[in-house]
Amino acid sequence: MLGSGIIKGMVETARNFFGSYVSRERLTTVQYPEQQLAPHENARTIPLLVYDGDMEHLRCTACGICEMECPAQCIYIVKDTVKKSDYLGRMQFQPRVFDIDISVCMACGICAEVCPFDSIMMDQVFALSTQNRFSGLLLHKEDLAKANGYFHAIHPSDAGDIDARRDEDKRKAEAKAKAAVAAKAAAAIKSSEASAKQVEVAA
Ligand code: SF4
Ligand code: SF4
Repeated sequence: MLGSGIIKGMVETARNFFGSYVSRERLTTVQYPEQQLAPHENARTIPLLVYDGDMEHLRCTACGICEMECPAQCIYIVKDTVKKSDYLGRMQFQPRVFDIDISVCMACGICAEVCPFDSIMMDQVFALSTQNRFSGLLLHKEDLAKANGYFHAIHPSDAGDIDARRDEDKRKAEAKAKAAVAAKAAAAIKSSEASAKQVEVAA
């Protein structure tokens, strides 16, 4: 029936309105800003950049994929000139500049989807009004950078999965490095034994 959806919505609103006098379950609003509800885990607003330990260890490698894929073209990255060691000991660039114009960002989350380094994720901050609509809404690397602990607090499931995957990567990298050292040592022993045999034959 035409308009049945509107009627259903109004009935639900009326149930909540009258029901809220007798049941807390029906009290769907709070006295904002004095009272605030915690956002749902999958709520998202603007992007953030995760770092491990301190700000010097941003996960971002300035690869530029998010900048290229952002439909609003509101990400601006300048790669640094020096490399730093990442969590697997590989030397990687980091961004010298990483800006996001949040007056244009539409919170689509595509940047977080395409990032191959688990670096850019979606924040849940929402009280972002400012009196300066230009510089006040242009967020820099220092504004966007958030500790992994913060990421865990807002998206515990995703952060836990990512940590588990990174721990497994670390374990594999360490095992590979150990195997390489052992292989090198075995090759050195073999070559010294071969040299000793040659000396014996010559004598
Ligand atoms: S946030 Fe991710 S996709 Fe964007 S530049 Fe950094 S590493 Fe690349
Ligand atoms: S959330 Fe969407 S619009 Fe905002 S920076 Fe990421 S890709 Fe761009």
